[in-house]
Amino acid sequence: MSEQESHGGCQCGAIRYRIDGEPLMAAIYHCTMCRRANAAPAVAWAMFQESQVVFSNGPPAAYASSPGATRGFCPVCGTQISFTADYIPGLIDITIGSLDHPEMVAPNLHYWDAERLPWVHFADDLPRYPEFPPVA
Ligand SMILES: [Zn+2]
Repeated sequence: MSEQESHGGCQCGAIRYRIDGEPLMAAIYHCTMCRRANAAPAVAWAMFQESQVVFSNGPPAAYASSPGATRGFCPVCGTQISFTADYIPGLIDITIGSLDHPEMVAPNLHYWDAERLPWVHFADDLPRYPEFPPVA
C-alpha cells in the first residue's frame, strides 16, 4: 500500500490537519453520542494512530463528552474534528467529512447499528455491527 498524505480541517479554516498514511479503519457510526455531537443522522469516522495526525495550527478545542472520552472541535465555527478515548489509547478518530477529499476514504463497516435511526438506510452491503466491531 502506497504512503498517502491527506489534509483536512474545519469549515472556517482555523483548525487544519495533515494525516500521513492510511486509516486503520473507516466506518459509519450510528451511536447516539456521535449523532448528538455532530447533529447529524450518522457520522463517518476514520481511525488513525495519533502519530499519523498533525494539527498545523494547534489542536482542536476539547469537550469531554463522557468519562475518558474527548471530542475535538473548532472553537470558532464548531466543526467536529476528532474523537479520542481512554479505551482506544494512542488512536484518534477523524471525521471523514472534515477531510479535504472525503471521497478518498470509504467506510468499510457500520457500527452501533443497534442505535441507527429507523429512517436511515445506506444502500451498501458492508458489515453491520450492533455495537462495537470485533476489532476496535
Ligand atoms: Zn473553524
